[in-house]
Amino acid sequence: MYKVGITGGIASGKTTICKIFELLGIPVYYADDRAKQLMTASKVIKHQIITLFGTEAYFKNGRLNRKYIGSIAFNDPPILKKLNAIVHPAVIQDGHDWFEKLKDVPYALKEAALLIESGSYKSLDKTIVVTCPEEIRLLRAAKRDKAKVTDIKSRMQNQMPDAERIKYADYIINNDGKDLLIPQILHIHQQILAESKQNG
Ligand code: ATP
Repeated sequence: MYKVGITGGIASGKTTICKIFELLGIPVYYADDRAKQLMTASKVIKHQIITLFGTEAYFKNGRLNRKYIGSIAFNDPPILKKLNAIVHPAVIQDGHDWFEKLKDVPYALKEAALLIESGSYKSLDKTIVVTCPEEIRLLRAAKRDKAKVTDIKSRMQNQMPDAERIKYADYIINNDGKDLLIPQILHIHQQILAESKQNG
């Protein structure tokens, strides 16, 4: 299976773009969503998270208290590092299993905000980076999440800037709202189809 990663900063438009790839018939593994699911579903991960954050990390009904965890982790880099060390390897393994099960598709995508930071990109064939200026991402995230700008900024500080991220890119999609998305996606889709045929 030809594996392609797609990443970008907070509110850069990764999910929006992946939905278009899905319309083209390309399966997408949403690593961040899956991470949240595993943090509730996996007993081993749950136990490790409670050890790190205390029982307040989960509500009585078993749901993850994301706000509580986020308020601590995004303001305490060593704790965030420990949280990532619990969650990232589990998601990388889960994503690997997901790719292995796919059949009859030319390639598949893995979407992750921390694709590069987690080292996950190393096990993929190509990487797409979505870029968008920080001011626009802040506005989009604030509108979407109804979150405080200061909270979004503190999350952004834990991610690498676009200038660093594009060093890892095989393809770049500019989502600043001026360049049209669909032509960029179709162009990359055709290129990946050609490459996956050559290498697969
Ligand atoms: P996160 O990593 O924070 O989950 P993301 O990278 O997946 O975000 P999206 O959720 O796709 O980003 O987009 C963020 C917000 O910006 C959404 O509300 C989306 O509708 C909006 N958005 C994305 N692309 C554009 C665009 N080209 N023009 C206007 N709004 C956009």
